[in-house]
Amino acid sequence: METLPEFRNEAYTDFSLPANRRAMEAALAQARAQFGREYPLRLDGKLIETEEKLRSVNPSNPAEVVGIHQKATPEMARRAVEAAYAHFPAWSATPAEERVRLLLRAAQILRRRKMEFDAWLVYEAGKTWPEAEADVSEAIDFCEYYARQMLRLSGPQPVVQLSGERDEMYYLPLGVGVIIPPWNFPLAILAGMATAALVAGNTAVIKPSSETPTIAAQFGDVLREAGFPETAFCVFTGSGASVGDVLVEHPKTRFVAFTGSREVGLRINERAARPPPGQIWIKRVIAEMGGKDAIIVDGDCDLESAVSGVLVSAFGYQGQKCSACSRAIVDARVYDAFLEKLAAKAAALRVGPADKPDNYMGPVISEGARRTICEYIETGKREGRLVCGGGTVPENGYFVPPAIFADVDAKARLFQEEIFGPVLAVTRARDFDHALELANDSQYGLTGAIYSNDAEHIRKGRERFFVGNLYVNRKCTGAMVGAHPFGGFNLSGTDSKAGGPDYLLLFLQAKAIAEKV
Ligand code: NAD
Repeated sequence: METLPEFRNEAYTDFSLPANRRAMEAALAQARAQFGREYPLRLDGKLIETEEKLRSVNPSNPAEVVGIHQKATPEMARRAVEAAYAHFPAWSATPAEERVRLLLRAAQILRRRKMEFDAWLVYEAGKTWPEAEADVSEAIDFCEYYARQMLRLSGPQPVVQLSGERDEMYYLPLGVGVIIPPWNFPLAILAGMATAALVAGNTAVIKPSSETPTIAAQFGDVLREAGFPETAFCVFTGSGASVGDVLVEHPKTRFVAFTGSREVGLRINERAARPPPGQIWIKRVIAEMGGKDAIIVDGDCDLESAVSGVLVSAFGYQGQKCSACSRAIVDARVYDAFLEKLAAKAAALRVGPADKPDNYMGPVISEGARRTICEYIETGKREGRLVCGGGTVPENGYFVPPAIFADVDAKARLFQEEIFGPVLAVTRARDFDHALELANDSQYGLTGAIYSNDAEHIRKGRERFFVGNLYVNRKCTGAMVGAHPFGGFNLSGTDSKAGGPDYLLLFLQAKAIAEKV
């Protein structure tokens, strides 16, 4: 294979240009025209319809059914793993260069269909246009990046040569991977985990979130169009609670790549650790989980940029990012000024249907999510001082306006628990050391940021702020493939560093061969 051009992140579409706006409007209309379509389950090359169905709705207007999907049974889950196991020898024997070629083709198809995917993300995940565009761009980046990484990892790896021997090491795929993504990056995270597994030569059972199965089904079409054989992967729709354990515990499952909540991740980790009869390996678990991410605002900093950074990190995509800022820890010297500016900006954010580009915030994902977030807002009224939000939006969708609570104690639930919605706790710090102590007072350790002009404070923060992804003088969301390998410490997960040079190794095992010569 000829060498590929250096990896570059995919450029975002500029929606301020009238031509792009028109194209996006057309894509939205096209997606809308397909609302309510039923998608079959493709299991081992056969199209299957189940009696029970999954219905995904438009969270901006839940009366609209975006897609109808099959609700696979536990028995089908067993079949999916067994089929993936049966097809593993053929797929793993496909030369790495060929797998890379297919992945690059998938990137190209996603690029061609970018606005179409943007539109599905708007309607099924409630993303605003720019958020949807970032999700699709990241999916393209994962394909391009992992294609290049696979080229690096295929073939013999450098090892020391002993005299009288030929010493070699090769990376081999593992086997059947169960891929379990969340709904909040329903394309990027699904595509990232699934393509990492596939390009490394594993077969994959991809179980998308029940909230976003249409995006997963459409991505399955992309893989097929790119030339990935139907036998190498299966987009397996069903309730996580009913088929998850079967997929994870199956003795032929070799590894699980999961991204989602701490509760489900820990359950998977525990269940995967117990080998059922007939299993002849220790399952590998990649589990990326929640966050309670903090931004430290130092006494000496550019306050305007700190306010904008916190605003975007806390309320972009309605706070439903694992990297979202949910704690602002602010030096006492600038606390009042920061709060005042932030509350004014947050109150001015427009909340409404995600397909209307004037809205900065769309809906949260589901009625259940809305209820949980509103319960936290009630808790916040007891634990802190509400300085913004707490009201409702006069629309049908699952909308929650941004909420900010001041004076939140480190022991408060609002400070400790992941809410996964547009709720921000603001806490006063005596000084920078205290701010760092507060920031690290968490069972999580995913992202964090520091806004400061003090070189000594930045040095301390780089050393002591215990998170997998630290940002200095910028927001704590928006990790870019290649530049910001992503993954968290503590109960945020296994720190797999998606989009980084080590990621594919998690989907491979090394074989060393020494031959006497
Ligand atoms: P979730 O844990 O509810 O669901 C994640 C996936 O697990 C879904 O596909 C779901 O169907 C499946 N699932 C549910 N029960 C299962 C079971 N018993 N066995 C196997 N699979 C099961 O999470 P979510 O609500 O989809 O996503 C939000 C969470 O994801 C938040 O906690 C967020 O912080 C986290 N997240 C983390 C990262 C990261 O990189 N660390 C990225 C995005 C989201």
